[in-house]
Amino acid sequence: MNLVWHRADLRLHDHPALDAALRAGPVLGLVVLDPNILQNTTLRRRAWFYRNVTALRQAYARRGGVLLVRAGLPWEVVSRVVAELGVQQVYAVRNSTPYARFRDAKVEQALGRAVRWLPGQYILEPGTLRKPDGSPYTVFTPFSKRWWAALEPTLLEAPQRFLPLNLPPGYELGSIPQEQSDVPLPPAGEEAALGRLEAFVQAKLPAYHQTRDGLAGEGVSRLSYYFTLGVLSPRLAAQRALRRGGEGAQKWVNELCWRDFSGDLLYHRPGMLTQAFDPRWEALPWNDDAELFEAWLSGQTGIPVVDAGMRELRATGFLSNRARMVVAQFAVKLALLPWPKCERAFRDLLLDGDNASNLQGWHWAGGLGVDAAPYFRVFNLVAQAEAHDPGGAWLRRWVPESGGRPQPYRRPWLDLEQARRRYLAAAEKVAKQKRS
Ligand SMILES: Cc1cc2nc3c(=O)[nH]c(=O)nc-3n(C[C@H](O)[C@H](O)[C@H](O)COP(=O)(O)OP(=O)(O)OC[C@H]3O[C@@H](n4cnc5c(N)ncnc54)[C@H](O)[C@@H]3O)c2cc1C
Repeated sequence: MNLVWHRADLRLHDHPALDAALRAGPVLGLVVLDPNILQNTTLRRRAWFYRNVTALRQAYARRGGVLLVRAGLPWEVVSRVVAELGVQQVYAVRNSTPYARFRDAKVEQALGRAVRWLPGQYILEPGTLRKPDGSPYTVFTPFSKRWWAALEPTLLEAPQRFLPLNLPPGYELGSIPQEQSDVPLPPAGEEAALGRLEAFVQAKLPAYHQTRDGLAGEGVSRLSYYFTLGVLSPRLAAQRALRRGGEGAQKWVNELCWRDFSGDLLYHRPGMLTQAFDPRWEALPWNDDAELFEAWLSGQTGIPVVDAGMRELRATGFLSNRARMVVAQFAVKLALLPWPKCERAFRDLLLDGDNASNLQGWHWAGGLGVDAAPYFRVFNLVAQAEAHDPGGAWLRRWVPESGGRPQPYRRPWLDLEQARRRYLAAAEKVAKQKRS
């Protein structure tokens, strides 16, 4: 019997590790409820994870298969299951965050042999593409050119049936905790994700390049929370969009390339978890003001576009990319709040919260050295709302006090013009320092 250890790949379709394991014989699925992850995250994110594990167990069961669920440290759980059941080989989709690499090395150490790692979390594995001189990419456009050229039309079907397993009588399959989320959760599982992909491709994809920037996030797919847990294969999603074709599809698949770029950045620079990608930016005069941080986090700054974003995020667990850029840039460039603290608090509120994409997003919006985003570009927060929420319906929904107007609805926490000048003066000094 072979074991497929599911982590951020809670699906059966287009799953290279499952496919390889099935070719070798009968397969048992495993999900480990890892306290290092689950005790360090928020209720909404745990609840979303548990729902998707439940959906995966149902998907196994419908095909005559079994998904084991065990709580504990992965390096203890995996080797225990292998020993108990005489598992021949463990298969898994490779993950590459710093914790995942630490965890997976410890699992192999405990097992005393190698796990068969396969791709599947990204379209192109982090670390695959390198510049001609062998160094990693730090700018998106050249990365994306190579990425597009490397796209391959491979897809793997979900299995129809699993072969029967000889589990010992009464072998405990393990229960999945159910927690009541503090935000409404989308429907869980790969069928729901595939259905949403299809609906998006039919209805919204053709105009995506024109509608994607709306603050209300009406023209986008809202598939990110499925990608984060690997409930939907990004490779399948890209191929489905490209089959439909058009400018919208090109743009959308390019966003999936941003996802891969984010994974690649963190793979090569794990230090960006705590230090700016370009460390010179650590020298900005950060302002660890607890009250200002709380005002930002709870959507009470007095600036409608910032407050609408943070209130929507708290109430739903989702936010459009445009609104994410705005609230992050406000926190880093205007409020000068310590960026790692904000990045972490923001990620905890997102159902799609993901180390690599969130770090890349914060770095990009905050001008911390990722890609070619220049430090001197500071959003005009009133103009952002006017351009991307014309009519003010989104502002009115989340900040009724604003009456849908983009100007501060009361005396704001910060004088925006003063804050902009303070940031630009400090940033100019930093930018003049030589890169180490
Ligand atoms: C400050 C900030 C923080 C962010 N944090 C996260 C995060 O924790 N998790 C996360 O998945 N995305 C994050 N993003 C990227 C992006 O905002 C979301 O992926 C996107 O808004 C999700 O909505 P969607 O699924 O409708 O996207 P769509 O517009 O439909 O795009 C399709 C898919 O492409 C990927 N994608 C789109 N934009 C980006 C991007 N800029 N970077 C990386 N991948 C992208 C996502 O997987 C997304 O589901 C962040 C962006 C910023 C500016």
